[in-house]
Amino acid sequence: MTDIIKINSNTWRIEDGFVRMFLLAGSERALLVDTGATCPQARSLAESLTELPVVLINTHADPDHISGNGAFEEFLMHPADEPFYRQIEASGMLGQDAKDHPRRIVPVADGDVIDLGGRPLEIIHIPGHTPGSVAILDVNARVLISGDSVQTGDVYMFGPKRSVADFAESLARLDAIKDRFDVIYPSHDAPEAAPDLTGKLLAAAKAVAGGEIQQGLKAAGVDIQQGLQDAGTALAAALTKTIRFGTSAGPCSCRRVNMHGTDVLLAKFEFAGLLLDLDQ
Ligand SMILES: [Zn+2]
Repeated sequence: MTDIIKINSNTWRIEDGFVRMFLLAGSERALLVDTGATCPQARSLAESLTELPVVLINTHADPDHISGNGAFEEFLMHPADEPFYRQIEASGMLGQDAKDHPRRIVPVADGDVIDLGGRPLEIIHIPGHTPGSVAILDVNARVLISGDSVQTGDVYMFGPKRSVADFAESLARLDAIKDRFDVIYPSHDAPEAAPDLTGKLLAAAKAVAGGEIQQGLKAAGVDIQQGLQDAGTALAAALTKTIRFGTSAGPCSCRRVNMHGTDVLLAKFEFAGLLLDLDQ
């Protein structure tokens, strides 16, 4: 069930359960940002809101952002996410027609400017959450559309395609230009976030990359590396409770959670959470 919220005369957010899309209209065309998790009708929905031709861009290729891509003959995406997209497309999840006739990906690159007609949008490549994640800066409106990478919920940072080091680097780049936006529109959790969330998440990513999570757990008597070596038995028992400790990004509480059948570590900070590999 989708919920359409008109933010202003030429901007909408479309809530699709736990994830959201955006529609930005210029004077010549409109840009749909993502197609949701359960929204094969995203294209017709967008076209019902504007008379302008609708172009699609994906912030990244995770399955909860592309459910309606099959209705587009082509769309914009960073090429580093194409392999993940093609996998899902080939599975038939985006419809039989998309499976039989793979859609054309128009590659975007860091620094590209998409002009919707009096509304320039700057593409910022922010690898980390996925290799091809992008943020979109609505230059004149001073809004940053951040995808999953900057949000107040739990950012997925576990599994083979994620990189905490790249994530930290991308957050540093966003943090360096935070005087260019007044508000962040993320794909999940709170619909709006303040620009200083980039710096807070950067501190969290640095704390993770610097081994502070493992150290904090170790000090509380949980040695994850050892636990994984011991076939996970001690680990499984130890991480059922929440463990709290201080980090350079502020207080952190850690617990093991199961995400789609995989045990991962949820490191919850005061401003957001990070879902990490257990041996992060
Ligand atoms: Zn997502």
